[in-house]
Amino acid sequence: MSSANERGWFRSVSSRLAATYAALFLVSAAAGFAILYALVSAYLLTETDTALIDQAEELSYYVKDSSLEQLQTELGRAAHAQGTQNIFIRLLTDTEETLCSSSLEGWSYEHPREAETLGSRSEPFFATVDNQADAGEIRLLYYPLDENHTLNIGISLRSDNAMLNRLRSVAFLMGILMAALGGLVGWFMARKAMRGVEEVTRTAKRIADGHMDERVPVAVHGEEIDQLAAAFNTMIERIHRLMGEMKETNDNIAHDLRSPLTRMRGAAEASLMDNQEKEDYRQMAGTVVEECDRLLSMINTMLDISETEAGVSRLSMVKVDLHALALEAVDLFSPVAEERDVSLRCEAGSCEHMHVLGDLRRLQRLLANLIDNALKYTPPGGSVCVSVQNAEGMVALSVKDTGDGVAAEEQTRIFDRFYRSDASRGVGGNGLGLSLAQAIARAHGGRIELSSAPGKGSAFKLSLPLHPPPTPPR
Ligand code: ADP
Repeated sequence: MSSANERGWFRSVSSRLAATYAALFLVSAAAGFAILYALVSAYLLTETDTALIDQAEELSYYVKDSSLEQLQTELGRAAHAQGTQNIFIRLLTDTEETLCSSSLEGWSYEHPREAETLGSRSEPFFATVDNQADAGEIRLLYYPLDENHTLNIGISLRSDNAMLNRLRSVAFLMGILMAALGGLVGWFMARKAMRGVEEVTRTAKRIADGHMDERVPVAVHGEEIDQLAAAFNTMIERIHRLMGEMKETNDNIAHDLRSPLTRMRGAAEASLMDNQEKEDYRQMAGTVVEECDRLLSMINTMLDISETEAGVSRLSMVKVDLHALALEAVDLFSPVAEERDVSLRCEAGSCEHMHVLGDLRRLQRLLANLIDNALKYTPPGGSVCVSVQNAEGMVALSVKDTGDGVAAEEQTRIFDRFYRSDASRGVGGNGLGLSLAQAIARAHGGRIELSSAPGKGSAFKLSLPLHPPPTPPR
């Protein structure tokens, strides 16, 4: 269990970010110190070499004019002045033999390979060798005076190396400190960023436990995490609403199934009574057929809505003349309008031929629903007018009536499945007509909008993209 927790901790964004920052700080510190180290050691070596050359130049004057004894004394004096454990000076022949020297106690090394050709060298050269006497290093200068004599000066690199060692220790400590600091910075930054994510996770778990009203608190800083929280809340809001709608739809289906089923059961029960005539059975069968038709129509419409909402791929698109479609529908509904004493017309001004790309059968169904509703909810003596207009790259088909209108609070709800206003309870219908119409409009890239005032009638405006689309002005 604890090892699983540990694995989880190592996989967490915070720990990974902390490790990344620690590594980054460490690498940067190491690179910085490496450059500093190289510069300091190069500087120290240059300083040493300059000191060696200065010393050699100074002594070269004595060599010319002095005897070996005098030179021996001078070399000893010069080395003594700087400490014989720090420097030695000697005069070599071209075969590396020592003619005279300062004290060589504590100095033991092998001449480098270049020293084998001393007689042929005219330029001074440097070498770094190990001092076998004290396990330190020596910087050597070979300064040719003539083809037989070379001044050989060595300086101990002990203090320079000690300084570089101290620098390395400091660099090591600083590296550890920088890595720790980087880890801390990474950890705090990740914690700050992750706090919002954890909040979302916590809320998601609470919602999964059934607390559907929970929401993530959103700060107003506008940071990415706030946007995530806001998007999460919007998603939950939408799911919540959809679940509410599904529940309402289920309740409505149950309600709408109960009445016809009760009626069919009543009719069947009555026909089981004694002394039933053949005519009674016929009536019962008629009631059952009628109720079954209602139920089938409802179920078919629901399936149609689902199929239409499933997308364009299920539509068989053809070029449709919307004005011709309106005229045809008005013609078809004229007998119904006449029967209900409502005047139905296609507006005279809208005789342009405007086309859309659509599924003819579904568009006919959409228009039929709108006109059927308009006739249903308009009292005798009223009028219904269908018109088609061009509206900024879209075709707008309006069905206006002088009926009862729709109350403001119901204007969005009437497009919901099964929604029927209380006022329309007495009129036949199942509350699915407008849902289907809106689904068809959306599947065609359009929409239906309602403008209505109670008592003053309603106008349902269907907008669909014009086909072919208008060419934009140059
Ligand atoms: P149905 O007509 O079968 O009830 P619809 O989905 O077609 O179902 O309509 C939903 C509701 O919208 C109707 O019950 C009615 O209250 C309202 N409605 C639709 N069209 C009109 C209209 N033209 N005038 C007034 N109310 C309407």
